[in-house]
Amino acid sequence: MASKIVSILQEIVKVLEEKKAELNRLDANLGDGDHGRTVVNAFRNVIEQNKDLEYKDLGDALQKIGRTLAFSTGAATGPLFGSAFIEAGKRVQGKEKLTLRDWKNALSGAVEGVKKRGKAEVGDKTMLDTLYPAVKALEQSVDKNESLKEGLLKAIEAAKRGMESTKDLISRRGRSSRLGERTIGHIDPGAASSYYILQTIIKNCLEEE
Ligand code: ADP
Ligand code: MG
Repeated sequence: MASKIVSILQEIVKVLEEKKAELNRLDANLGDGDHGRTVVNAFRNVIEQNKDLEYKDLGDALQKIGRTLAFSTGAATGPLFGSAFIEAGKRVQGKEKLTLRDWKNALSGAVEGVKKRGKAEVGDKTMLDTLYPAVKALEQSVDKNESLKEGLLKAIEAAKRGMESTKDLISRRGRSSRLGERTIGHIDPGAASSYYILQTIIKNCLEEE
């Protein structure tokens, strides 16, 4: 899996390019309209700066990606995505392949990283509303001893429902929080981009199983 990291990053860029206009539009409803461009550029930059990323240690690789993301953009998302990858990496240090429990630990690290960096809570209409339900789904799947595939597919579904749930929420963090109740009715751009990123990572990892 670790040797596939560069191709997964390329897939992420491809998907985000396809979704760029949609993400810009979502951000135009709530913020400054740059979110699609920001995330595409951030992951392009990660590829540029990590051309030789052929790690055996997934923890190292995720942390390296996170450090590049953290400094890749002037927008709020760089440091937030950066913290997510760095904290996820710390939870899978030394691993070359991930079990369902490792996935759960990594994603819960990502949630903690975003919370610590951005001081948001679940329900504040941010990327956390995508990521946290995925962690909860993974916890349940680990408890039930489900297969890696079943657990990861359920995590994608939970993340999607989480992203969609942001439509009914009031923004309490970031640029969009200034609009208060006027944010109701619009999906949060960061919740959408983090869904696309998570979905792409999981799909590509499952193809390898
Ligand atoms: P900017 O607001 O600087 O233009 P982006 O448009 O790239 O940054 O990203 C906006 C997204 O960042 C939001 O949709 C939200 O999901 C996420 N976000 C903003 N502030 C926070 C925060 N404090 N905690 C978690 N996520 C946040
Ligand atoms: Mg923006």
